Amino acid sequence: MPSGLPTPNAIARALADAGRRFYARGWVLGTSGNFSAVVSQKPLRLLMTPSGAHKGTLTGREFLAVNERGEAPRKGMKGSKARPSAEALLHLEVVANRGAGAVLHTHSVWSTILSDLYAHNAGLAITGYEMLKGLDEVRTHQHREWIPIVENDQDMPRLASVVRQALRQHPRAHAFLLRRHGLYTWGRTIADAERHVEILEFLLEVEGRRSSWPS
Ligand SMILES: [Zn+2]
Repeated sequence: MPSGLPTPNAIARALADAGRRFYARGWVLGTSGNFSAVVSQKPLRLLMTPSGAHKGTLTGREFLAVNERGEAPRKGMKGSKARPSAEALLHLEVVANRGAGAVLHTHSVWSTILSDLYAHNAGLAITGYEMLKGLDEVRTHQHREWIPIVENDQDMPRLASVVRQALRQHPRAHAFLLRRHGLYTWGRTIADAERHVEILEFLLEVEGRRSSWPS
């Protein structure tokens, strides 16, 4: 990334702030979810939430620098024994395939429900809403956003390869869902990725509530 990148400390603080806001919304309860942002392109390094971190109490000091294999060669910023989230490989797929500067992953109620409800279609289409215009490059409510759904898997290398296929198959998608698990989205900056989380969580909740209406 160009030399205009924020410092690692500023990036960690911005991710910690996002974590507290998402926790307050109920999108990352019980230490769920994980966040990352690119701090260096060559060599590739992501600053990432460690496994098991509570997102409501992040300070920014617990983040780990993760390499292109999803490993944290150095200890956390506090020198702790923290290890990177097992889902680091999925963040790396998004960075590699989308050129993202930040990747945010939530475990909200609505993403969990809809990822199951629409799993038989391997995705869900959202169209006709003004809020779609909050997604990068979207100019009209008539945009049709396809959100691929990937079956959940505890084998991370295998899941990462399925995610890679979904990202390549749907090059315009702004997000994907893991079935009965949660939402992944991204952006050029942390602010862009955070806006995408807010827009998509809004749209998923709208779709979810609407789908329970009598037709
Ligand atoms: Zn997760």
